[in-house]
Amino acid sequence: MIVAHLPAGYLIARAWRRRLTPAPSGLAAWGMAGGVIPDIDMFWAICVDHGMVHHHRYVTHWPLFWLLVFGIAAAFLAVRRAGSGWLRLGVFATAVASHLFLDWIGSDIWLLAPFSDRSWQLVQISRASAPWPLNFPLPWVGALDVGIASLGMWVMARDWAVRHRKRNFAINRCTLRSRDPRWQRSPGGSGLISPASGPGIRFRSVPGSDPGRSAE
Ligand SMILES: [Zn+2]
Repeated sequence: MIVAHLPAGYLIARAWRRRLTPAPSGLAAWGMAGGVIPDIDMFWAICVDHGMVHHHRYVTHWPLFWLLVFGIAAAFLAVRRAGSGWLRLGVFATAVASHLFLDWIGSDIWLLAPFSDRSWQLVQISRASAPWPLNFPLPWVGALDVGIASLGMWVMARDWAVRHRKRNFAINRCTLRSRDPRWQRSPGGSGLISPASGPGIRFRSVPGSDPGRSAE
């Protein structure tokens, strides 16, 4: 797979986030990082080995290597008693596993490296005879790659639009309240006091809004 890894990492992080209340920050970044990090070996494969070695042979595509990494990370978190770290590790590990699985569908993966030099591929693909890049989307694995990428990008764009709408709504509500004479500015001008709640209720500032105004 080529283009599916980053969006797949985002979708995995999103699935975790929907089941967590409250969700720790930065899960999407951990998911996307885990989704692409095994492919950092491409730099070595291209710049050092000049494409002479299949990049799945490198350590970042070894499942056993990642098991070791996650085991060390889990031991570290257990010693440090880092609560939210487990969630980030879970998202990151799931995204790395998704990368290896997606690669494994249509390409060789050395599942038991470094203890075995044998590689496995989940399904054999009959390549189309058209020249690359037309060759790429024709087999169904290419279509799956593009399909996952399209779904991930669509969900990402929709999430961004929802966040943008919520932020604009909060800023507009803040602006309307600051113009309403029933809402009084708190002493020192650091917030607004609700007419219903009485004095003492302050509302924090919305980042990016007028610094002289504040919002709920
Ligand atoms: Zn890969």
